Amino acid sequence: MSQDFNDPSIQDPRPSSPVVPVKLGLDDKIQFRCRKGIACFNKCCENINIMLTPYDILRLKNRLGITSAEFLEKNATVFEMDAHGLPGIRMKTKAGSAACQFLTPEGCGVYEDRPTACRYYALGATTMRAKDSPLAEDFYFMVKEEHCLGHFEPRTLSVREYRQEQGVEIYDEMTREWRQIILKKRSSGPTVGAPSQKSMDLFYLASYDLDNFRVFIASPFFHDVYDIEPAYFQKLLSDEVELLKFASRYLKQVLFGEKSIPEKPDAVEKRMKRREEIMAKQREQMRKDMEKEIDSPSE
Ligand code: SF4
Ligand code: SF4
Repeated sequence: MSQDFNDPSIQDPRPSSPVVPVKLGLDDKIQFRCRKGIACFNKCCENINIMLTPYDILRLKNRLGITSAEFLEKNATVFEMDAHGLPGIRMKTKAGSAACQFLTPEGCGVYEDRPTACRYYALGATTMRAKDSPLAEDFYFMVKEEHCLGHFEPRTLSVREYRQEQGVEIYDEMTREWRQIILKKRSSGPTVGAPSQKSMDLFYLASYDLDNFRVFIASPFFHDVYDIEPAYFQKLLSDEVELLKFASRYLKQVLFGEKSIPEKPDAVEKRMKRREEIMAKQREQMRKDMEKEIDSPSE
């Protein structure tokens, strides 16, 4: 599993690519089976390069019983998905090795919550939008790596059946809107100039750091601007799946101006007032610091 082909931003750069250049649809048949006891068992997890989606992170951090920030710190690394530095997240490997941190002699240590890329392998999936088309299209392809003997197992099934077997449907459903955001951000990039650091930070927060995104939507800054029905807001605080769906809506609103979350009529005034309050506090703190410095100058 040396390359994550679920990442729409990544093209396989190797001259001898293991990607079989045949575009597959849901009803196309593939020959493949991975099973315990196969001679190559665990080989695919010994050299990984796996991009994590927001839903992958949600599942894994809950599996490990830690917060999203802890997961991002301990179990993941940030990389740039495009020339503008749009942040992506990769799974960390074991120290000094290319093997997955969750690999055990018995197999995957987080099997029920394994990421999308692991579920799909040795099938690849990607979403592409044809030039001048508003619609993104999903398609699939096989990835045949030398070490993987699953391609020689006597079992044929459709792409649709394989996806069901591997439980990828909920993963794809939870990531669909987020992938659209990446595609749209990428395609709109050159026309609107480089995205601001603030938009990058919001993308990171709403995509990957779900526990802190929850703290953010509970803050006065958020409530000054957005008019959210109380019962729905309580659901957002208690239901992470709902919160992750909302995070994509929020990103579409702040990045592309798609107004699906109602805003308060006095949002702009409140935001300005709060900014002024913060700046006044900062000025006051600076004044106090300077007074201290004058009273007791350093030797
Ligand atoms: S998460 Fe599990 S299946 Fe995926 S690379 Fe790691 S050990 Fe292998
Ligand atoms: S059959 Fe392929 S996917 Fe399964 S353990 Fe072997 S290398 Fe990994």
